[in-house]
Amino acid sequence: MENYHNLVGKQQRFFHMGKTKDINYRINALQRLGASIKKNEDKLKEALKADLNKSELEAYMTEIGVVLEEIRFTLKHLRSWVKPQRVKTPLMLIGSSSYIYPEPYGVALIIAPWNYPFQLSIAPLIGAIAAGNCAVLKPSELTPRTSAVLEQMITKLFPEEYITVVQGGVETSQALLQEKFDTIFFTGSVPVGKIVMKAAAEHLTPITLELGGKSPCIVHEDANIKLAAKRIAWGKFLNAGQTCVAPDYVYLHHNIKDAFIKELKIAIRKLYGDQPIDNPNYTHIVSQKHFDRLSAFLDEGELVIGGASDRSQLVMEPTVLTKISWKDTIMQDEIFGPILPVLEYKDLSEVIEGIHNHPKPLALYLFTESATVKKKVLKNVSFGGGCINDTIYHLVSPYLPFGGVGSSGIGSYHGKGSFDAFSHKKSILRQTTRFDIPLRYPNVKNGLKIIKYFLG
Ligand code: NAD
Repeated sequence: MENYHNLVGKQQRFFHMGKTKDINYRINALQRLGASIKKNEDKLKEALKADLNKSELEAYMTEIGVVLEEIRFTLKHLRSWVKPQRVKTPLMLIGSSSYIYPEPYGVALIIAPWNYPFQLSIAPLIGAIAAGNCAVLKPSELTPRTSAVLEQMITKLFPEEYITVVQGGVETSQALLQEKFDTIFFTGSVPVGKIVMKAAAEHLTPITLELGGKSPCIVHEDANIKLAAKRIAWGKFLNAGQTCVAPDYVYLHHNIKDAFIKELKIAIRKLYGDQPIDNPNYTHIVSQKHFDRLSAFLDEGELVIGGASDRSQLVMEPTVLTKISWKDTIMQDEIFGPILPVLEYKDLSEVIEGIHNHPKPLALYLFTESATVKKKVLKNVSFGGGCINDTIYHLVSPYLPFGGVGSSGIGSYHGKGSFDAFSHKKSILRQTTRFDIPLRYPNVKNGLKIIKYFLG
């Protein structure tokens, strides 16, 4: 097995030189990263097309543009984020003042998945740089062309002791995890998330885990059906369903079942045409293994939309299955592909119970016009984050930290959240030397009485 001890040691030494803590150094690194992304836009689009058949629009919107925006937002706010934050001080500590100093953890390990291979490598890296860390980035082995462009860019931009890309698969990832990092940021599946957490526990390394799971989409009987169908079709079939926050399945109120399916059919056709398989702008499945896993679901329930696929091209049409229950295999794990199973319900309590019986989702989408229904779902269901009357768009706002809860993840990022994910908050009390309140000392008369007055 390879050994990354020297590499991590080199980064540790570089970190301790203190350069990366300089705010101007961070700003310069982010500016250069942004400029390089703009310069390599065409190369990145070509690589994403070759790896996943991503269209130019999707590549720009979900991989390139989104990180450029993250850099712009970070550059705008970074000077204020790095400042020590003054907080209140209790009366008992009169004479002193209190501050929270954000400080970089040190050397960060970032492990990324294949579904948004560029965005999910660069977005955490922006946080790592902004917070003043060094970083080792391990992109996915399943999208080799994008990972290669990423490596070329980073190697040209930064010295190895500051930021570097390590290519490889499971073994490389495991070898990296043997090392003692100061923080680990992992995006990927739940089972691998557990492996990462175990490895981090060996060194007591703080972690952020951005995982997945089955994200429900609820369409209530009072929803705007046409708009719901359009926004669900977009969110589900974007990247051919290979999105961590894609609606995994729909809980549909039985009164609107036929009307919704009809609108969904129209919406899918409008987005991808009559033959989505031949649509050059429709993303393909990442590998044969994933394609075969998805194909096995096609026999379940009743096929109402799509169903066609081409193994030689690794493409599968947007597909919708009805008459599905929690017992079907498609409902056991995250689907991560363009198949949308539909479960029907009569009462909202069935939905809440159904979700409660399963791990906490990464996202939840609720389509309704009713304030009571919104309140009931938000109050009773725990999930990472989500939207009312939309899908996926909560990720777009830099003011909304993005992450999971329970088995869908630990910690969050985006916007200031990314800076926080890579920062330790050092609490400092600045005490006065002008006087010394004697209460705490054991030789003070009535000390206990006075302490009791202040504490409790
Ligand atoms: P994955 O967990 O298989 O792989 C992710 C990374 O971990 C890759 O770099 C891979 O090389 C590495 N890895 C794989 N097996 C490993 C092992 N045994 N030990 C150590 N490292 C290992 O995930 P994936 O298939 O690339 O991505 C799909 C999953 O990621 C889905 O579950 C999806 O929901 C999740 N995801 C989550 C988010 C999020 O932001 N929460 C975003 C995208 C994807």
